[in-house]
Amino acid sequence: MNYNIAVIPGDGIGPEIVREARKVLDRVGKKFGHTFNYKELLMGGISIDTYGVPLTDETLLEAKKSDSVLLGAVGGNVGNSRWYDVAPNLRPEAGLLAIRKGLGLFANIRPAYLYEELKDSCPLKAEIAAEGFDMVIMRELTGGLYFGERHTSEVNGVMTAVDTLTYNEEEIRRIAIKGFEIARKRRKKVTSVDKANVLDSSRLWRKVVAEVAKDYPDVTLENMLVDNCAMQLVKDPAQFDVILTENMFGDILSDEASMVTGSIGMLSSASLSSSKLGLYEPSHGSAPDIAGQNIANPIATILSAAMMLRYSFDLDAEADAVENAVKQVLSEGYRTVDIMSEGMTKVGTDKMGDLIADRI
Ligand code: NAD
Repeated sequence: MNYNIAVIPGDGIGPEIVREARKVLDRVGKKFGHTFNYKELLMGGISIDTYGVPLTDETLLEAKKSDSVLLGAVGGNVGNSRWYDVAPNLRPEAGLLAIRKGLGLFANIRPAYLYEELKDSCPLKAEIAAEGFDMVIMRELTGGLYFGERHTSEVNGVMTAVDTLTYNEEEIRRIAIKGFEIARKRRKKVTSVDKANVLDSSRLWRKVVAEVAKDYPDVTLENMLVDNCAMQLVKDPAQFDVILTENMFGDILSDEASMVTGSIGMLSSASLSSSKLGLYEPSHGSAPDIAGQNIANPIATILSAAMMLRYSFDLDAEADAVENAVKQVLSEGYRTVDIMSEGMTKVGTDKMGDLIADRI
């Protein structure tokens, strides 16, 4: 098959890590008989330098025309870059928000997986880490508190701020369907996380998720309150398969789940729309402090490309091949500097890409 991928390297380490993901995709293409065509697009700081804005209409159109989008990262040094002291809509990160909106991406998935070989980086107690964990956090991305009406005003002489949390049943249904579909590709369990003991929006969330669950009798549904979920993530993370939740709860829980894996350079992510078009990117940023030194860990981006194979192209065997190649390289003792430990072999960004590609 032929696939057209829009590639947005972005800023900082973006070009270095995206190069390695392409290398791995090309090897997958060779082995499994697919052709991946790439269209390189500019977004973020580099687009500001070239076109004056972080995302042009033409770039967005090209991204829309593609089968899927692979992104590195955007942004410069926080507080100390030429893109920092400018209007919010002209900052590199504005490109990210604009492309998410423009592509209609409403579901974000972040896996949290503890590699056997990296258990020492896990900040949890050894007996909990020994159990391992393998979950994805599916977070609603375009509704809820972050997109509701807000204002600050003086009420009876007291400054008062209001944020509104709104969800309609359609917004909940479409992400619930994504959550159950993804659970079907995994261990078939959805934990829907809400605050239904307090919030109306959570009660509606719970009701709609239960309705959707009826169409997936092979998937187990469990409801959990968000405060309990935050505790369970550090007490017994092995229990989770797919955590399905709204925007703000997902924002917080996905960072918590990432933290317990202990290694930022390993964390992939995907944002999905109602079509097969998705945007795949590492969870980390552009790491300007290490850009251009060939030391960045490309694995998060390579694993994001694997998610693209699985979720946008339905190429599950190919995605498995990439994930297994990563595991193999780690078990052979190769490490980039961020995950280095005693007795392991330190390699640079390009070498890590070569090793993973070679094991496809
Ligand atoms: P960051 O994730 O870029 O870096 C945090 C720390 O982790 C740094 O020390 C960095 O060197 C290290 N790190 C990150 N990725 C790594 C990798 N692959 N290999 C090895 N080490 C890695 O976060 P930050 O420093 O807060 O932000 C830097 C810039 O990235 C900012 O401009 C920020 O706005 C932007 N950002 C972009 C995205 C995105 O494009 N999706 C996400 C987060 C931050």
